[in-house]
Amino acid sequence: QLLEKLNRDGDWRLLEQFKEYVDTGYIDKVIRDLTRRPGLAGTPQQKINAEYILDLWQQQGLRAEIVQYNVLLSYPKGNHTNKVSLYDASGRELFTSKSHEKVLVEEESPEEVVQPFNAYSPSGIVKGDLVYVNYGRAEDFERLKAAGINVSGKIAIARYGKIFRGNKVKFAEDSGAIGVILYSDPADHTSPGDERYFPGGMWLPGSGVQRGNVVLIKGDQSTQGYPSTNYSYRPGEEEISKRFPSIPCHPIGYEDANFLLGSMVSGKVWQDWQGSLNLTYHLTGLMDNRTVLMDIQNENVYRPIYNVIAKISGTIEADRAVIFGCHRDAWVYGAVDPITGTSILMETARIFAKVYNSGWRPRRSIVICSWDAEEYGLVGSYEWVEDNMKWLQNEAVTYVNLDSGISGNYTFSSRTVPLLHDAVYKSTMALPSPYPHDSTDTLYTDWRSRSETRSGLPHPKIHPIGSGSDHTPFIALAGIPSTYSEYTGYIVDGKVIPMDDYPLYHTRYEQYELVKMIDPGYTLAKTITLFHCELIRELVDARILPLNVRTYAGVIVVNIRQLEKFRADFKVNKVEYAELLASTERLKTAARIFHQKIAHLDHNNPLQVRMINDKLQSVERAFIVPEGLPLRPMYRHLLQSPSGLNHYGGTGFPGLEDLLELPNSNPEKWPQIRKHVTILTHSIYSLAKFLEND
Ligand code: GLU
Ligand code: CA
Ligand code: ZN
Ligand code: ZN
Repeated sequence: QLLEKLNRDGDWRLLEQFKEYVDTGYIDKVIRDLTRRPGLAGTPQQKINAEYILDLWQQQGLRAEIVQYNVLLSYPKGNHTNKVSLYDASGRELFTSKSHEKVLVEEESPEEVVQPFNAYSPSGIVKGDLVYVNYGRAEDFERLKAAGINVSGKIAIARYGKIFRGNKVKFAEDSGAIGVILYSDPADHTSPGDERYFPGGMWLPGSGVQRGNVVLIKGDQSTQGYPSTNYSYRPGEEEISKRFPSIPCHPIGYEDANFLLGSMVSGKVWQDWQGSLNLTYHLTGLMDNRTVLMDIQNENVYRPIYNVIAKISGTIEADRAVIFGCHRDAWVYGAVDPITGTSILMETARIFAKVYNSGWRPRRSIVICSWDAEEYGLVGSYEWVEDNMKWLQNEAVTYVNLDSGISGNYTFSSRTVPLLHDAVYKSTMALPSPYPHDSTDTLYTDWRSRSETRSGLPHPKIHPIGSGSDHTPFIALAGIPSTYSEYTGYIVDGKVIPMDDYPLYHTRYEQYELVKMIDPGYTLAKTITLFHCELIRELVDARILPLNVRTYAGVIVVNIRQLEKFRADFKVNKVEYAELLASTERLKTAARIFHQKIAHLDHNNPLQVRMINDKLQSVERAFIVPEGLPLRPMYRHLLQSPSGLNHYGGTGFPGLEDLLELPNSNPEKWPQIRKHVTILTHSIYSLAKFLEND
């Protein structure tokens, strides 16, 4: 009887129950309730919202608790109004940026809306000439430099898009800029000729401003490496401030940017750097000796934050857990980011509570988390991961992340580590398409028809996991295989509109009404909920963990090929590249044999099953190094840490990319590369050996 229990398989028929139980009314209620007032981290409303979730979970019969940390957050200072102004040669003010976004939809408590700002920008008053730096990417600054255009001593104005805003500020700082203005260009936030600006549609109105943090080191800024408890040491302000940009930065909308960019009239013009404002974008050349002033006063203050954590214990392997999380805090109302995700998390939790109450018991445990202070640099999730590091590294099998669950209406999209690709594909195959043409259409076929396909590959593209949401401490710090999916992209009147972010991202206009425009009947929210129910069911119930090491090896081999362009440099500089290649070949073979072994395993021998699962669940940890990446020691995953060029993105070998592709005049560069390649090679060999060992 015990053996029968131990050998129980997951029941795919549970999906029928999920489908029966899923309730868009509840999704709507959660979105409506949590978007009435701003949900900014560190404000009293966030405690109220945490208690709202706790109450619902407890009513549904889940074991849940609130876990609090005290962390360093950033706000505009008191009564000061941050501003960017334009002065003429005689010192007369010609223009000042608006202090707030226009109220376009009636709000319950408009006074609670935080004015647009960039969290952790230092305070400062800077005055000077202006230079337009396009998207502010490393390549944009390199191009300016090559053209002899000096950024040093000037204020840089960069448009939002393409990369994480904190990287833009860092690159500007490294180029000698004294301040950074970030703005949203209509080219990236509207559709030409379409006048449907919010609330008449989904495009960004001229006064809308994207808020957001600009730090590159994540988690609470005062307690790196350990949780922010009341016994925790915190360094002094001066020490902490080294982690922030050294120059002020501030975001504005395109109505305001128009004045600044429109004042640059005589500098160079690059056609491919033009945005869609009705002006010619000159790189420099403020007319009539005008100057720009930035007057920014922000303050860093310690505030309590609240994660809500619920647990359903597994009955066979209670000491193995699948963690599922989404943040709850928002810059303002956060209707899309993160409340679409939070509503899906809540509905998934409600459904699991319901099947549990009707007798279903998961094999492994499910932990469901509502994170606080993600917008400040993934603070709630980092502190919790640091707090639970030992347990997570030994007992967590995967982390499933959600954020803006429905940010668009075009396609399913996933950012997932290679170990979990199969699991994501399998769950999408089990679900109907949200917009079926016929009865055989699944979420998978729908996704495939809308995804960029790489030639020769049958599956839709899954993106590298990168960073920019709460999976980062799990994957890049603890080495827990992670996945993060959503519905995204815009299709309007049958036309696909390419866009990096949805237009109203991080503005005051992310209100309830916006969600109703993107997903009117909650068809997509329902699909993404069922996807997560099914994925989590598979992860907690599958007898053999659905982690595929062959896929991992395959992705590493593909990524290695991208290093070919450095082959000559490697040779000259005595980098042991051939050995790195050899290690990947050995891993490929080891992974193939390992999975053959799994196929031939006696699945009715619980000890054998557990032995294989233990191996599978620790594969990802082969790439965690305690000393971290050579130039970014706070990221510890050799392969799945975010790219140093774009914190949102991932790249094959992030540590190597830092050394090879960031401007680097360090004479130790090649020894550092030789050392890092050794560490990579060793980690791949050591994983191969681990798989080969029985
Ligand atoms: N999701 C937030 C943003 O994109 C925070 C991301 C992060 O700090 O990594 O601004
Ligand atoms: Ca910490
Ligand atoms: Zn978010
Ligand atoms: Zn956000």
